[in-house]
Amino acid sequence: MTSNKPRITIVGYGSQGRAHALNLRDSGFDVTVGLRPGGPTELKAKADGFTVKTPADAVKDAEIVAVLTPDMVQPQLYGEVLEPHMAEGACLLFAHGFNVHYGQISPRADLDVVLVAPKGPGALVRREYEIGRGVPSVYAVHQDTSGKAEQLALTYCAGIGGARQNAIKTSFKEETETDLFGEQAVLCGGATKLVQAGWETLVEAGYQPEVAYYECLHELKLIVDLFYEGGVTRMHEFISETAQYGALTRGNYVVDDNTRAQMRKVLAEIQDGTFARQWIAEYAAGNANYKAMKQADLDHPIETVGKQLRANMQWLSTSQAANTTAKQSEAA
Ligand code: NAD
Ligand code: MG
Repeated sequence: MTSNKPRITIVGYGSQGRAHALNLRDSGFDVTVGLRPGGPTELKAKADGFTVKTPADAVKDAEIVAVLTPDMVQPQLYGEVLEPHMAEGACLLFAHGFNVHYGQISPRADLDVVLVAPKGPGALVRREYEIGRGVPSVYAVHQDTSGKAEQLALTYCAGIGGARQNAIKTSFKEETETDLFGEQAVLCGGATKLVQAGWETLVEAGYQPEVAYYECLHELKLIVDLFYEGGVTRMHEFISETAQYGALTRGNYVVDDNTRAQMRKVLAEIQDGTFARQWIAEYAAGNANYKAMKQADLDHPIETVGKQLRANMQWLSTSQAANTTAKQSEAA
């Protein structure tokens, strides 16, 4: 490494890739973007002013190569493009430990291998950086050939705005297993099913779908904002005594011993590799089940009601624009 600002190549320009590339450039790093020619995000990266090269070309001179493509394409990308073209002794960086932890990628012995995972979607990583804040991040070292792997991870972490005081050292195993558990049981899987089931319960009992939408989906943001600012303590400070008493006596009806046993099952399937094997097989078979299940979420009647109600929420147009990433346009 010749300076304290290593040359960085970002492979992939989706949710995380774009945010990392823009933040690192604004932090003074020399950033190149590696993308397949004609791929869906190439124009976006060029419009943002980046030098875009093929992944093979882009990684040749890089001191850090950040692999920010979807997890399922990384093993082939690594084997066919990154491993043969990365410079001797360079640093391979991931934003999620999945492929290394589950043995889908076994990096070359001369490379440093690190993980820097912001705990938030790319749009938030960018927005928080722009307003001078940061998204808490975790980092880890899998392979330290240079003796500087941890320092490189911290340099990158600071460059994307993961404030140092909030960067927690972890391992690839801990990051992978806790990240999957969080998104499955609580954040993406748990929260979605909780909202849908609550809405369905009210609508089936004859209440207006629009009123049920406000109660079960819209207001969740207000509660989550209080969690974010000051934990459950702050929520209790702001909600009524009646809401507090109801929450304290009825919350456990929903999250009961069975729910906790199911959470342990989710975790066990992550720890023993069942989830990873199932997802890898689904992806290899063309994603028919994944696409069908996702379509069912998109077709759920709460989506129709929500779309109509949100059309009158003028204040949403700006924040919605900020949350739109290449991922949505790519999926379309
Ligand atoms: P994404 O789906 O938003 O973006 C993928 C990008 O990779 C696109 O630019 C796409 O064109 C490109 N790409 C796809 N196949 C490619 C190939 N074969 N060669 C080169 N480029 C290719 O991805 P994402 O959600 O940002 O995820 C990237 C990584 O970040 C993953 O490891 C993920 O687990 C991790 N991560 C994501 C989030 C998140 O909020 N999305 C949060 C933390 C960590
Ligand atoms: Mg994740």
